[in-house]
Amino acid sequence: MINFNKDLFLRIAKAVFNCDSPTGFTKNASGIVEGFLDEFGYDYKELNNGAVEVFVKGRDNSKLVATSAHLDTLGLMVRSIKNNGALALTMLGSPVTASLDGEYCNIYTRDGKVYRGTIQSTSPAIHVYEDAKTKLRSIENLEVRIDEKVKNKEDVEKLGIQNGDIVCYDPKFEVTESGFLKTRFIDDKASVVILLMLLKYLKDNNETFKYDTKIYFVVYEEVGHGAAMVDKNISEFVTLDMGCVGLDLAGSEYAVSICAKDSTGPYDYDVTTRLINLAKENGLNYTVDIFPNYASDIGVARKAGVDFKGGLFGTGVSASHGMERTHLEGIINTLKLTYLYFVK
Ligand SMILES: [Zn+2]
Repeated sequence: MINFNKDLFLRIAKAVFNCDSPTGFTKNASGIVEGFLDEFGYDYKELNNGAVEVFVKGRDNSKLVATSAHLDTLGLMVRSIKNNGALALTMLGSPVTASLDGEYCNIYTRDGKVYRGTIQSTSPAIHVYEDAKTKLRSIENLEVRIDEKVKNKEDVEKLGIQNGDIVCYDPKFEVTESGFLKTRFIDDKASVVILLMLLKYLKDNNETFKYDTKIYFVVYEEVGHGAAMVDKNISEFVTLDMGCVGLDLAGSEYAVSICAKDSTGPYDYDVTTRLINLAKENGLNYTVDIFPNYASDIGVARKAGVDFKGGLFGTGVSASHGMERTHLEGIINTLKLTYLYFVK
């Protein structure tokens, strides 16, 4: 069974989580993944849309299967520059906007400059605005206060900031003594780290996948067309993505969640059953759930017309798309199921 190397985890996780990579602005993150693939000794190619594809020959070459994790995260874009010198915003993906109030951020201009700022309510000061406490934290009511001496729109334009610039709120990466991983984009960078750890383990131990396998590091998942470009010849596609936690769901931060159904319908019956049985037989902490407000790259590849059996699992994530958190136990259970399913 694969072991969990905490030092390796921390090294990969620090690099992957601390890199700004909202959907549509993922070059830095693919570069980091490619750096690890080079180090571990894997060939890969970067697809036209920016995704990274790794092909690994399996022990059995009778079929081609695939897995993936998405590198892209939620983020923001400058919608317009306001007359007061603040930035109006539009969303990349669907963050819980209330959780953005007060976040520090980077603003990336198209000529390579990076400015700091704070995302805050348009009624930010309690001593001034009657509705400072009660104003809805919708995207329309949030703006970026730029940390530069700007008083009006012209001042901002002089910095080189324009509509369509990328705004990234801080990832705030932290692993606590008690084993919690706290950072903004556990969805789905935890899975990116897990796949990289698996690849490193296989090289170090001279093991390989059961079947010929394509591993995709996808870049447009958060806006719904991530895996539209998967190889049409795959017969099975099991993606790693976050598990839901909350309400009546069974999922938890300590377990690997196996998804039986999401908003696009059920996952393949046999694949899901196999995942459940493997988790059970190997004593993993696992849960089976339906993910109510959720869609994944499996649905995307189905809609792209690929004929395959689809499955999904991943570590349970608390407060998804908000202040996300999981536990290393959830990561370890997911890493083990990944190994058991694709390699054992
Ligand atoms: Zn995701």
